[in-house]
Amino acid sequence: MDKRLSAIQFYLLLALLSLFITSVWSYGAFMDMEQENRRIVEEAIPISNAASELFPILLDQELTVRSYTNDQDPRSLLQYQQSQKTLDQAIGQIERLDRNHPIMQQIIRQEALPLIDQMKVFYDSQVALVMEGDFGQANVRRYDGVGNINEFREVDKKIRSDIAKIIREASERGKKASDSAKWMILIVGGVAVVILMAFVHSFQLERSKRVLVQRSLTDPLTKIANRRAFDEDMEVRWRVARTEQYRAALILIDVDSFKAYNDTYGHLSGDSCLIAVARTLKKELQDDGMVYRYGGEEFAVLLDHKRTEQAVMIGERLRQAVIRLDILHETSLPLRKVSISAGVAVLTPGAEKESVLIEMADQALYRSKEHGRNRVTADVS
Ligand code: GH3
Ligand code: MG
Ligand code: MG
Repeated sequence: MDKRLSAIQFYLLLALLSLFITSVWSYGAFMDMEQENRRIVEEAIPISNAASELFPILLDQELTVRSYTNDQDPRSLLQYQQSQKTLDQAIGQIERLDRNHPIMQQIIRQEALPLIDQMKVFYDSQVALVMEGDFGQANVRRYDGVGNINEFREVDKKIRSDIAKIIREASERGKKASDSAKWMILIVGGVAVVILMAFVHSFQLERSKRVLVQRSLTDPLTKIANRRAFDEDMEVRWRVARTEQYRAALILIDVDSFKAYNDTYGHLSGDSCLIAVARTLKKELQDDGMVYRYGGEEFAVLLDHKRTEQAVMIGERLRQAVIRLDILHETSLPLRKVSISAGVAVLTPGAEKESVLIEMADQALYRSKEHGRNRVTADVS
């Protein structure tokens, strides 16, 4: 029986495999997009939140330092110092978050932070002037921070619009990719199912083909190999034996006085008898060779080439096994049991055809009949 894949099965399997790889790949792409979305939520949005705190703190500092210049109230100084701490915290947070965002780095590091530093230097110097008692100078510079505040207002706008742009673009990219990945998985899955069905179908076809071949080589009554199988095997055995210069061995077997058996016990009992004989021959033979229903109540045995030397002995073993079946056959004298006659032929193939071996076995069988049946005759060359 041929258990190899047919060409169509092979290509279907290949297509199935590539579909599987594609779906794994598209799943990977889908996962990448998920990651993109996650980065928006876990990085871009927190940066945006932290950056949005900067402007109100700076505005608060401007007003606090201005009122400290005005009234020198230590509570204003304390408030300025506290807002400085809050500012440092917000900057620290942004610096931690923006590591993976070049655009953010550009606006925040190159524009916002230098400006904030500049403002800190101004406010600190303002506070120092007041603390040193130089109120005149401090008052002159009281509104100088406004320019920085206005400049920062622009930077803040830029930060906001850039963050919004980053988020919008990333989420659009993510959505587009996840949509196409979904479709891809759907299509790939659909095609895979169709291919799988075709694969299963072709397997079923292959299996029913094998069943048909098996059936065409099996005898329906006895369920052993039939004449067609014999002809095919005989030809192959003969060819191999010729090439390898083995001796080929054939045993032809015929049930004795079977017409009389049918006449006495009926055709159906005759059928059962043939089934029993076939089963016994097969069981007795085991791995020594192969038994076929050659026709009617005749059987053929092709021996394994390693058993050729024991051909006659095996024929004898088969004869005895049928006797041991002990099937009553009143008119078959002297035993009154169903028996077989056998003809054994052994030959090393030369130029002749396999029919020579069959003819030899047939002649040997004929002699078994002639000499009183229930016996094995050999023609061994
Ligand atoms: P011999 O000992 O010389 O072989 O005598 P025989 O009666 O066996 O030989 P013969 O060829 O005269 O008869 C064979 C009989 O086998 C005739 C036929 O009806 C019977 N037979 C052949 N095939 C079947 C079968 O499938 N079922 C049954 N019941 N009988 C069959
Ligand atoms: Mg016969
Ligand atoms: Mg017969």
